[in-house]
Amino acid sequence: KDPNPEDFVPLYQSYECFYTRNMYTRIRDVFNRPIGSVAAAEVDVIERLSDDYNWSFRFTGKKLHAINLGSYNYLGFSENRGPCAQAAIESIKNYGVANCASRQELGTQRFHQELESLLTQYLGVEDAIAFGMGFATNALNIPAIARKGDLIISDGLNHTSLILGIRLSGATTQTFKHNDMKDLERILRESIVNGQPRHHRPWRKIIIVVEGVYSMEGSICRLPEIIALKKKYKAYLYMDEAHSIGAIGSHGKGVVDYWNTKPDDIDIHMGTFTKSFGSAGGYIAGRKKLIEHIRTYSHADCYTASMSAPVVHQIISSLKIVMGIDGTDNGQKRIQQLAKNVQYFRRHLVDMGFIVYGNDNSPVVPVLIYMPAKIAAVNREMLKRGCAVVTVGFPATSITESRVRFCISAAHTREMLDHALRAIDEVGHLVSLRYSVRNPHRR
Ligand code: PMP
Repeated sequence: KDPNPEDFVPLYQSYECFYTRNMYTRIRDVFNRPIGSVAAAEVDVIERLSDDYNWSFRFTGKKLHAINLGSYNYLGFSENRGPCAQAAIESIKNYGVANCASRQELGTQRFHQELESLLTQYLGVEDAIAFGMGFATNALNIPAIARKGDLIISDGLNHTSLILGIRLSGATTQTFKHNDMKDLERILRESIVNGQPRHHRPWRKIIIVVEGVYSMEGSICRLPEIIALKKKYKAYLYMDEAHSIGAIGSHGKGVVDYWNTKPDDIDIHMGTFTKSFGSAGGYIAGRKKLIEHIRTYSHADCYTASMSAPVVHQIISSLKIVMGIDGTDNGQKRIQQLAKNVQYFRRHLVDMGFIVYGNDNSPVVPVLIYMPAKIAAVNREMLKRGCAVVTVGFPATSITESRVRFCISAAHTREMLDHALRAIDEVGHLVSLRYSVRNPHRR
């Protein structure tokens, strides 16, 4: 039978909702925008106008220089100058780019082990293992630690990579309302069957899966309460620190640092190197036994080539700076600068009357624009004013909660932040973004 072209229609074209389909066709220029420079504090965006009727773009040949408020470059390490970039360049000279083998088959170099032992030290855990991709770290390691007969309790706003991993694992899943501890406890309570002569739990194990800082909400997980619940109900805790590691806590050690808890209270630490460390890949950390198990069973380790040398050296170099073992206080300065920038930017947005989601210390700063129809206007108008921003809508958010998601970096100067604030002030006026009431249901 001939293939049916309809089967290949992109997902967003096939949504039942005519309104959404029509809208996304017309605003495609604000997504997948190519940039023509390093994604540092400033970027060059390549101007491209969408041609609505034949699914193509017209390049104007112009490069628009803009403040980068969209990359997860929290500590400013995504640069092509400086010690980290130099480490990567040296690394290519010594080791090339590829290892052409998986970790178990001649793909393990000394620098992989060095990275893992540094991570162990940094996170205060027994052992750690690094992977080439953050997304795969979640998607392929959850199936290595959970299976049919286990119960996974997942936050309602968890990242797609976590959801995919949970689905692939075959475990039973229950979802609790975002950051709602009462709902989490309800599910935990219901997981125990009250029978005679003693309570019976029909699950081999229960794993609570949460994130440190939520990437679309900017909220921070309520770790102390989650730890208390996990201990009470004898569950395990899987923590995705993609947006929190390096970015929150007085020493940049993520949620453990922020909440002043013990690293041991989290059973499975997961994080990525694509954000605060300005590189690529992810890690899992925790007890020795756990990491040994993952080394044996993880598809993300056994069946894929090991991390590239320049990538690993860039991470090692930025990690040493963050840990302060490079002999300077540069890392601590970056962490403090990020915290200052976040507070400054958030405070001014709230003062201007915008609705800003998330925790006051979160470097992810979502400003609500609600109406999907305003996505393109906000994005284009901000770019006209020299600010490259990310605007997000359905299906990444609910259809009525479209938003601009600013990502603040330690590399942003006060002038850049002031410029961005002036721009959003004007654009907010232009497209009526200010609402007087703060949504009481969100934190
Ligand atoms: N976890 C979370 C919470 C994320 O937001 C992301 C991506 N932004 C990932 C995992 C995947 O990480 P990576 O982009 O490094 O593959």
